[in-house]
Amino acid sequence: MKILLLAGDGIGPEIMVEAEKVLAVLALPVTLDRALVGGAAYAATGHPLPPETLDKAKAADAILFGAVGDPRFDNVERHLRPEQAILGLRAALGLFANLRPAKMFAGLEDASALRPEVASAIDLLIVRELNGDVYFGEKGTRTTADGQREGYDVMAYSESEVRRIAHVAFRAAQGRNKRLCSVDKANVLETSQLWRDVVIEVAAEYPDVTLTHMYVDNAAMQLVRNPGQFDVVVTGNLFGDILSDQASMCVGSIGLLASASLSEGKQGLYEPIHGSAPDIAGKGVANPLAMILSLAMLLRHSGGDEASAARIETAVAKVLADGCRGADLGGDMGTTALGDAVVSALNNQTHG
Ligand code: NAD
Repeated sequence: MKILLLAGDGIGPEIMVEAEKVLAVLALPVTLDRALVGGAAYAATGHPLPPETLDKAKAADAILFGAVGDPRFDNVERHLRPEQAILGLRAALGLFANLRPAKMFAGLEDASALRPEVASAIDLLIVRELNGDVYFGEKGTRTTADGQREGYDVMAYSESEVRRIAHVAFRAAQGRNKRLCSVDKANVLETSQLWRDVVIEVAAEYPDVTLTHMYVDNAAMQLVRNPGQFDVVVTGNLFGDILSDQASMCVGSIGLLASASLSEGKQGLYEPIHGSAPDIAGKGVANPLAMILSLAMLLRHSGGDEASAARIETAVAKVLADGCRGADLGGDMGTTALGDAVVSALNNQTHG
């Protein structure tokens, strides 16, 4: 497997080092390549996603991505901002399915914004469509008949777009607890009614998965009231954007949450859900666990290596259960020490 490492900006390079240490312990038959992305690429080449990086990304089987975003470039033209690199990669690689697991690690219940007994039950996966919806429909500003300015963004989903994300979600549910909840707003939106109709059609191919539907306003409420009821949730781009952030905050620190963006094939981009954290960059205090868990997702989804993915996840759970904490969780372990703890937990598995 060819893996492209795109460390990016801010804490990206610091946490990438720790993921590489973990990869080295696993000693898998992978080849690694590196390229510049985001502000680092803009500073060196004048573009956040230079052609060389894009070519390497297209040639890779999987991309491990740190984070992009650099306050020095917040005022450059929008299409040259570091964050545009991630949008460019999604478009160029056809990454249409975003997977965000949220699971409560034992010992971290007190870090959740929810009551510990509610938070402890969280083990869910949000599957969000990434390439359609109101974000990509016709948009603009116009003047109404009475002379007012009016902004508009058209929400649209074609049935093929819904079908392909539904398949991803049903397959994910088959690999978990076989329950899928499709979230929409079919009581009000035509787009959502089509979404629901198509998801029901696709369900016929997955008789082993129990499908339910929920309106997005109720889903937002249920995620904080009783998140333990969810296994896999599938939803569109807009609703998924909001719900996945909400779900992630229910499990404690942003420094623990990984994500995958998948294409039709096995290629994918894997990254922590957090950004480049410029406020703590260079201080050696960033939590590398989300980055390390992103590597686990990469090995599972692009590498088909469930055993190595599970080993990493078990090692991270062990480290947290042993009380290892970075500053984001009220502890004093730095980036390197946390990475070393995961490496040591992995080595103990091998010898145990
Ligand atoms: P952020 O996620 O970078 O940081 C939010 C807060 O969480 C900060 O206080 C930060 O210190 C903390 N934090 C984040 N990751 C952490 C970690 N691993 N360990 C410990 N603490 C951590 O969000 P922001 O501050 O809104 O954005 C900073 C930059 O990142 C911006 O330029 C933004 O556009 C960019 N961004 C990039 C991505 C991406 O690369 N996919 C995602 C979100 C934001």
